[in-house]
Amino acid sequence: MRAQRHQIHPLLAPVPGTERFIHSFHYGPAQPQGKVYIQASLHADELPGMLVAWHLKQRLAELQTAGRLRSEIVIVPVANPTGLEQVLMDVPVGRFELSSGQNFNRQFLDLSGPIGDAIEGLLTDDATHNLHLIRRHLRDALAAQVPATQLQSQRLTLQKLACDADMVLDLHCDFEAVAHLYTTPEAWPQVEPLARRIGAQASLLATDSGGLSFDECFTLLWWALSQRFGHAAAIPQGSFSVTVELRGQEDVSHSLAEQDCQALIDYLIDFGAIEGQPAPLPALMYPATPLAGVEPVTTAVGGLLVFSAKPGDYLKAGALVAEVIDPISDRVTPIHCTCSGVLYARVTRRMATAGMVIAHVAGEQAYRSGYLLSA
Ligand SMILES: [Zn+2]
Repeated sequence: MRAQRHQIHPLLAPVPGTERFIHSFHYGPAQPQGKVYIQASLHADELPGMLVAWHLKQRLAELQTAGRLRSEIVIVPVANPTGLEQVLMDVPVGRFELSSGQNFNRQFLDLSGPIGDAIEGLLTDDATHNLHLIRRHLRDALAAQVPATQLQSQRLTLQKLACDADMVLDLHCDFEAVAHLYTTPEAWPQVEPLARRIGAQASLLATDSGGLSFDECFTLLWWALSQRFGHAAAIPQGSFSVTVELRGQEDVSHSLAEQDCQALIDYLIDFGAIEGQPAPLPALMYPATPLAGVEPVTTAVGGLLVFSAKPGDYLKAGALVAEVIDPISDRVTPIHCTCSGVLYARVTRRMATAGMVIAHVAGEQAYRSGYLLSA
């Protein structure tokens, strides 16, 4: 049994003397079957996942000693050291990089075009052969990238660490929310037990939400290659990934993190990455719905935001979500949802601005198209 490995990956420093690093922790036997990659807090102000990652590290070390790990399991507890240090006048700013304004969880690399060109003619009807071929080209293509900024360097480091994993879990949270997740319709059969185990009250499915988020840069590659070559060659779904939203930003507690850690361990047992008897599967709390069916509930006017609905509430179309109060004119503007569904997340702010999205409701019918994510 190989000891746990701690790898340190230097990031490009924007100015001399300010080096930062990504730390990855690798568990598993000397001859692992498959690979699982789990990272936390890519949005650096979303910390519940970081605590779950810490609990996971303790549990995986025990499981390693007990010889129960079958796959390599990689944990990156601090996926965004750049953002973690951004505090502006006492307010953490972990979603966007201050110098560029870019969302830390967008613009990962889509290399499906050049990789497709490189493997054309080398594919066969053997899915395992193609899996290894594509992974080799993906690793080589990522290794050939030269990042120009620290942000690009951070994205590239994470993408390289996860690119050849069978399963990628990206642990996030929302502002105030119940547990929910994002994945693709193609991956849903494999992800459904995870949704049950973490108690997801919304599971939002999209093949391409348009932002090249971390989870999508992996699944999109296999999807694009399958679209291009699937008629003539066996292209497997070489990786599936999930953005797991562990409730809201304030939900950092040992009791929740231990529960989530156990849910992930149980799911890894289901998946075969850890040896053990699968625990009984809890019921699915809410069926999967299309990401294109999510209603961003918006207020047209600004004012004091007083919610009537809370995360986890099932709302009928037309239900009252909140009131927006103008304390000067005394105008009270009720905000209703137009879709029926679970309100799975709402903002933390209580002073709404005109045009602001105040909550998200998981509607069942797809009605939006194009770019499907928030900023
Ligand atoms: Zn996030």
